[in-house]
Amino acid sequence: MTGLLTRVEGDPVAIDNADAAGEFLFVCEHASPRLPERLGTLGLSKEALESHIAWDPGALAVARHLAEKLDGTLIHQRFSRLAYDCNRPPESDAAMPAVSEVYEVPGNRAMSAAERETRVNEIYLPFHDAILRFVSDRKAAGRRPVLVTMHSFTPVYFGKPRTVEIGILHDADSRLADRMLAIATDGEVAYDIRRNEPYGPADGVTHSLVEYGVRNGLPNVMIEIRNDLIRDEVSQRVMADYLEGLLVKSMAALPAR
Ligand SMILES: [Zn+2]
Repeated sequence: MTGLLTRVEGDPVAIDNADAAGEFLFVCEHASPRLPERLGTLGLSKEALESHIAWDPGALAVARHLAEKLDGTLIHQRFSRLAYDCNRPPESDAAMPAVSEVYEVPGNRAMSAAERETRVNEIYLPFHDAILRFVSDRKAAGRRPVLVTMHSFTPVYFGKPRTVEIGILHDADSRLADRMLAIATDGEVAYDIRRNEPYGPADGVTHSLVEYGVRNGLPNVMIEIRNDLIRDEVSQRVMADYLEGLLVKSMAALPAR
């Protein structure tokens, strides 16, 4: 069995500010549209390979600003979710999707068990293990990280425009999400911000939250930003400023640990 990643392509996991003094751990599973060279184009057009089906445009930039501002750690995946979607477990069909929204992904059709296993071993597991190691190291040091996963979504999905601007998603543990929603919708409201929209736990999008956050007793939330709001450097900074304030106020409102 040949491997997937070449030596030149390096590690699939990137960790920024690993020794951060702050409590926030930002995770960006869909940070990059890059495909491992050995996968070619997966049979997709250039347009599809640059679209939201390949990555979450803007999410990494906002996560980087937040990690910097809050002195947090950022762990992100360096390869496209079309190679492996790190917010899905290996047994999920969506982990290596043969269809994504309106696009067929020919290179993900009819994969052998060995091919699937290679992608799991080379892209998902290193990412999964890096996050779990970070969390357990922090816990061993008597610290408790706050998990924030950062995503963006397309403004038009299956031809339908979406009006929600920011989604605050959670699974079984809604402590942090509840505070964020209460604070964001109190007084002057900056954005159309909603609970578990445009996706929720039933869509299978809370894998990382459950695996790294809920199971470890960490406060956790998934933030979904409509990608037309974070298209350029200025708008990414504006969004990071807003989310920084919201996260800080929400953490201050969480009951003592
Ligand atoms: Zn995403």
